[in-house]
Amino acid sequence: MAEQTVRVRFAPSPTGYFHVGGARTALYNWLFARHHGGRFILRIEDTDRTRYQPDALPDLLEGLRWLGLCWDEGPEIGGEYGPYYQSDRVEIYRQYAEQLVREGKAYRCYCSPERLARLREEQRAKGIPPGYDRHCRYLTREQIAEYEAQGIVPVIRLAVPLEGTTEFDDLLRGHISVENRLLDDLVLLKSDGFPTYHLANVIDDHLMGITHILRGEEWLSSVPKHVLLYRAFGWEMPIQVHLPTILDPSGKGKLSKRKKKLPGGQEMLTFVREFREAGYLPEALVNFLALLGWSYDGQTEFFTRDELIRYFDLQKVSKSPSSFSYDKLEHMNATYIRNLGTNDLAGRLMGVYRRAGIEADIGTVLQLVPLIRERIKTLNDALALTDFVFQEEISYPAEELIQKKMDRTSTLAALRAAEARLQGLEAFDEETLERELRALGEELGLKPRQFFGCLRVACTGKRVSPPLFGTLAILGRERVLRRLRQAVEALVEI
Ligand code: GLU
Repeated sequence: MAEQTVRVRFAPSPTGYFHVGGARTALYNWLFARHHGGRFILRIEDTDRTRYQPDALPDLLEGLRWLGLCWDEGPEIGGEYGPYYQSDRVEIYRQYAEQLVREGKAYRCYCSPERLARLREEQRAKGIPPGYDRHCRYLTREQIAEYEAQGIVPVIRLAVPLEGTTEFDDLLRGHISVENRLLDDLVLLKSDGFPTYHLANVIDDHLMGITHILRGEEWLSSVPKHVLLYRAFGWEMPIQVHLPTILDPSGKGKLSKRKKKLPGGQEMLTFVREFREAGYLPEALVNFLALLGWSYDGQTEFFTRDELIRYFDLQKVSKSPSSFSYDKLEHMNATYIRNLGTNDLAGRLMGVYRRAGIEADIGTVLQLVPLIRERIKTLNDALALTDFVFQEEISYPAEELIQKKMDRTSTLAALRAAEARLQGLEAFDEETLERELRALGEELGLKPRQFFGCLRVACTGKRVSPPLFGTLAILGRERVLRRLRQAVEALVEI
């Protein structure tokens, strides 16, 4: 028998920016599909109009593309099983809900929000768990006619079996069984005609031929309701896989959407766009997210995208939560940056400079790459480290020029000597500069740290910069001489 083609979906609700937790879910679905030569479907669950955020969808699509998680069916590209926006499928859900009503598996409920609120209040007072009391499940024809005559628009609720248990298997969590008496007669279709998550999700997973459902653990408690729906429709349920929760670095709380602070005081990044804007490489984030709940052999940390596809296996997904380590991500990112080819890294840095409003030219950036590659953990680190290269004027407190155990006079002498020596150099390359400046430092009786520290501040405006001689070569003779002269002027003035 031919094996069924794997079809998985990522089904986000556009209620906010694309969260890394969602990205991990999308990645696992994508890897699973690619591993099996299957299809990765993107479905937009946008039926909750009260939580809808117009910015969320473009942010999501951009984030998925940036991570390289391209979908085979879904928004913008369509597919055989569309439409892929649930808001375009409302009529489908309505028809299926009506079918269940006709078959006596669901019923119309006319209870007003006030009645339901009162009911909850009474239940709370009595200390019993809140839930619908099934008032409308047993209405007579006459009562229904009466409500209809009053013009009350009903919701549709599932008639959950009163006895017995609902059971299913989760690939990671094993057999799960829930007593039906603990389940509420859930709403399937709201009075505005829109479906609830449960109804739309089940219908679409079925109609779109989904074979495996990989989603966050927080959805596990919804599965019994879904089982009842699949059963009511007479459909086979896809294989269930509930992925482990992602915890914050302390391991104590969920990595939520609400912003928390890291021990160092920085805000925890949680949206995919924030990682992009902070200068993380998508391949580093993908590698990192892949390991948040999955491992190959418990020790290998670095995987190319192709290796991830080759090795990804649901059997190796963990049941227990994983903590999000920003340090580990940063380390991974730095490693990925170090391993990028010069042209590739330069190209990415060009984007970072452009976004920061710095007019960098590719020739200079290509020269800078070898100097900074080992010193940056994120692409953005390059900004602070190299901005002086692209600025006409630099500014810094003149006192910074004076190094330890030096004073104004000796610093002035050093700067003037450097200017004179550099003016006369035949070549202005890294090697020549190093040779000549080391010799000059000795002649002046200065320690390298003193002499080069003073030159560094004069030419870069910083105490920390890329390696000095390479940097001076990139700046070029004219600019270096001008900055040395400006340093002298600044010192004279204090
Ligand atoms: N729309 C749900 C969400 O926002 C989908 C959950 C599921 O995958 O079933 O995550």
